[in-house]
Amino acid sequence: MSIKGIVRTMPNGNFDVVIVGAGFAGLYMLHRARGLGMRALVIEAADGVGGTWYWNRYPGARCDVESLQYSYQFSDALQQEWDWTERYATQDEILRYANHVADRFDLRRDIRLDTRVTRAKFDESAGKWTIEADKGTTLTATFCVMGTGCLSTANMPNFSGLADYRGAVYHTGRWPREKVDFTGKRVGVIGTGSSAIQAIPEIAREVGHLYVFQRTPNYTIPANNAPLDPALRARTKANYATLRQEAKELPSGVYYEFNPKSALEVPPEERRRVYEARWQDGGTTFIAAFSDLITNEAANETAAEFVREKIHAVVKDPKTAALLSPHNIIGCKRLCVDTGYWETFNRPNVSLIDVSTAPIERITAKGVQTGGSIYEVDALVFATGFDAMTGTLNAIDIRGRGGKRLRDKWAAVPHNYLGLTISGFPNLFTITGPGSPSVFTNMIPAIEQHVDWIADLFAHMRAKGFSRIEASADAEKKWVAHVAEAGAPSLRSHCDSWYLGANIEGKPRIFTPYIGGVPVYAKICEDVAADGYRGFELA
Ligand code: FAD
Ligand code: NAP
Repeated sequence: MSIKGIVRTMPNGNFDVVIVGAGFAGLYMLHRARGLGMRALVIEAADGVGGTWYWNRYPGARCDVESLQYSYQFSDALQQEWDWTERYATQDEILRYANHVADRFDLRRDIRLDTRVTRAKFDESAGKWTIEADKGTTLTATFCVMGTGCLSTANMPNFSGLADYRGAVYHTGRWPREKVDFTGKRVGVIGTGSSAIQAIPEIAREVGHLYVFQRTPNYTIPANNAPLDPALRARTKANYATLRQEAKELPSGVYYEFNPKSALEVPPEERRRVYEARWQDGGTTFIAAFSDLITNEAANETAAEFVREKIHAVVKDPKTAALLSPHNIIGCKRLCVDTGYWETFNRPNVSLIDVSTAPIERITAKGVQTGGSIYEVDALVFATGFDAMTGTLNAIDIRGRGGKRLRDKWAAVPHNYLGLTISGFPNLFTITGPGSPSVFTNMIPAIEQHVDWIADLFAHMRAKGFSRIEASADAEKKWVAHVAEAGAPSLRSHCDSWYLGANIEGKPRIFTPYIGGVPVYAKICEDVAADGYRGFELA
């Protein structure tokens, strides 16, 4: 397997479809477009395929949806031949899987690596997109599909003094290929989200001293990761069709044991037993222990309190345990999954630095200044997340009809139809775009559902002799209202998370993903297609 793709010269020219991004979205879109006999090209900024799993090489990086589910299902041969080795695969294994897919389906010959798309402009008279990339590349295409990812633009807080810092600086989402050796060093990690929670236990084992700069404590559930039981793997493979279907019928899109009871309808000892069983089993399905944990604050508090008790039971220093204990809604921010996170704070070489009341003031030449102290470190790890959902699309200068910029259209709200298309931007598609279930589900099946819908549309347009499609302004308006309405009852729409853009200064606070559930969403998409692509203008 070669990580690096074959370097080819860029064919400046005309394509049926240009796809931006070679993560799981771009790879599958290319496969489907080719299957329709379309002339397709993928442009990717990285020098390898895999997207998220190319960039996020930090120590401890893994999936938090079980490997047997976090994988493609479009090819049964693929899912039968690939053997995941652990319950939650490592970044390295998932990247190998992405590369295997690229080779197995002979995708590399139509992927251009090391090329960043900077501009995409719709030419109304020609009815085509002109796509410009760095290195002087210009392409034209009837369709442009953005497979640019929900979590692909790293968020680097603009700390004053950072330029003067003399140590090494890393971001978890832009981790170097080479092993970073922290042996014996003083290291600072900024952030306590999913990335930090996976990286901290690994980094702590290597360093001389680790300082964890925590602004908001987070809830995390043990992964209970383990080598995959060969019998379970064989059983899953034998029943994949049924299991995948079962997942599609659940709101989360992940198959797990669903408990229809309310947390408040059972006695405390029964509640505790259920939480304990989920805790021992491990993983994010803890939040499905009862049906109302994400809709009822009182129910949610019973789960939150259970986790806080666990923290106090594990972390020996009561002051540190109290600092690590979150008091916000559990599951409001994405629930984290860890291996030995709380235990790490019992190590003598780990210090938790609270930056909630005394924020990081500046980065000095030697380290981090906060609360009147300077923490001298040889390396700084930014585990500070992403400009999620819209950041990567807005980083490209995308111009639709009349030269209108997407960034301007989305200045207040990311208006779109079905999370897939945008009024004023004909023949442009966003895989797992804002307004689709995306990050609230298992993302690979979510990607497949979008790609299949787009590919079916391409086939329909060809059969009917159409070359242009655009969402109507009215359909878009109604969809945006529906996304907001679906989000309102969920406790998730009320806290400062990246789901709302709250992690990025100046970003409008809009609950961006669609939380109506996978089956409801998929049915809407199917119905729209069956109804002759209701809400679209085809020409
Ligand atoms: P990405 O994988 O983000 O790929 C997008 C690609 O587009 C990137 O390679 C990027 O370089 C490229 N690109 C962007 N802009 C341009 C441009 N202008 N020009 C050229 N190329 C460009 N989801 C789950 O369901 N389960 C998990 O367990 C899970 N774990 C995750 C762990 C981490 C650390 C992170 C960050 C995310 C995780 N996710 C998980 C979400 C994950 O992003 C998706 O599962 C999935 O990998 C997204 O695939 P994608 O192809 O849509 O986007
Ligand atoms: P994140 O959840 O956004 O966490 C970023 C962290 O950085 C937060 O603790 C945040 O604190 C902190 N931070 C940001 N700016 C800061 C500042 N100026 N000063 C101090 N602290 C600051 O990002 P992430 O951990 O990279 O995860 C993003 C998403 O990627 C996850 O939610 C998940 O969907 C996915 N992911 C999944 C896995 C997995 O287990 N498979 C692993 C990693 C990532 P505040 O909370 O106070 O803002």
